[in-house]
Amino acid sequence: MDFNLTDKQKELVGLARDIAQKEIAPRALSIDKSGVMDEELLRILKQSGMTALSVPKEFGGAGLDLLTIAMISEELAKGCAGVATVCAANSLASFPVLIAGSDEQKKSYFDCLNEGGMSCFALTEPGAGSDAGAVSCRAKKVDGGYVLNGTKCFITNAPIADKITLFANTRESGGIRGLTVFSVDRNTKGISMGKEEDKMGIRASATSEIIFDDCFVPASTRLGREGMGFRIAMETLEKSRPVVGAISVGIAQAALENAIHYAHQRKQFGQKIASFEMVQQMIADMVTKTEAARALVYKACWMQMTGDKKASLFSAMSKCFASDTAMEVTTTAVQVMGGNGYSRENPNEKYMRDAKIMQIYEGTNQVQRLVIANAAMY
Ligand SMILES: Cc1cc2nc3c(=O)[nH]c(=O)nc-3n(C[C@H](O)[C@H](O)[C@H](O)COP(=O)(O)OP(=O)(O)OC[C@H]3O[C@@H](n4cnc5c(N)ncnc54)[C@H](O)[C@@H]3O)c2cc1C
Repeated sequence: MDFNLTDKQKELVGLARDIAQKEIAPRALSIDKSGVMDEELLRILKQSGMTALSVPKEFGGAGLDLLTIAMISEELAKGCAGVATVCAANSLASFPVLIAGSDEQKKSYFDCLNEGGMSCFALTEPGAGSDAGAVSCRAKKVDGGYVLNGTKCFITNAPIADKITLFANTRESGGIRGLTVFSVDRNTKGISMGKEEDKMGIRASATSEIIFDDCFVPASTRLGREGMGFRIAMETLEKSRPVVGAISVGIAQAALENAIHYAHQRKQFGQKIASFEMVQQMIADMVTKTEAARALVYKACWMQMTGDKKASLFSAMSKCFASDTAMEVTTTAVQVMGGNGYSRENPNEKYMRDAKIMQIYEGTNQVQRLVIANAAMY
């Protein structure tokens, strides 16, 4: 593994860092308070290509590899993990199109992202969370296409999406073998948004239900064959989990830097708290764990890119370890800052709330541990 960045990687990661420092971080607390994404910021993200990170070169994109996407996501997350999630959700929704889409389907989808369109990945339902195979949203085959009926919940970007990557069941009896993926235009008749979540963290990203009510979609919206959905979902999540790991590393890094800065300013007992060994110990553990998480995320990306047979194991380990690290580091960062760490005037309590979702979405960390134990033991 080569840890030196290419000139192109340096340029793009630098651009993301610049946007995070100048445009995202100054707006992060007010977006967090209102729970509404800043329109001007979204425009900047679109114009700079941050919402189209996964578009291949042949479809007019930058053709970034997974490691570069992860590094960019880490930088964006240092500014605000909610904003990084908005951009990452577009990549997540892209992966099924990349895995199973025809050239025509890819063109339609990526043209949309290139023009500043947004997308969402709609798998979860009220009765199908960790158990993705339990999807009951129905895709009933009719002349020329399918009729969709059902409700998706907790879908990131749903309220602002132009394209929906939808998992529905083509079998009346349900089950994994009927799971099928569709790439559907948001403005198709019969699609509406349901309840929008009022969330603990990543409040820059809008999360809501999507309701399909006798919604006809042509057969050309189906990605791959009927029944391929479960495999496509697993392959997609395997690719995207290191990106969740990278966002977690970004959160941990931001909390860590904030805590170090504070430790150098704050005086108690006539000296800077940075000089107390117990504070130094907290910082030492935060730095070490953040760096270890970053290394695991980079290795997981590299294994995905090289098609290593242990890629799935590393993907799960990177998401699980990095998000647990983000939770631990952000909690410790609040501790380093004492009462000020607990105040909403300071970003550290936000980092802590943002870190929590990293342990839940794209497969809870309990589910990651099932994958890890399975791969390690059998
Ligand atoms: C803010 C947010 C954004 C999201 N964005 C998206 C999105 O864009 N698209 C999308 O499709 N989904 C999205 N989700 C859904 C998310 O992926 C699910 O919430 C997650 O997979 C867990 O499912 P669940 O909430 O139904 O929990 P459950 O599956 O009900 O789990 C509850 C608890 O039981 C544990 N558990 C469940 N099964 C097992 C098992 N077999 N062994 C051990 N423990 C187990 C879990 O680890 C957890 O602790 C989002 C969720 C949130 C909160």
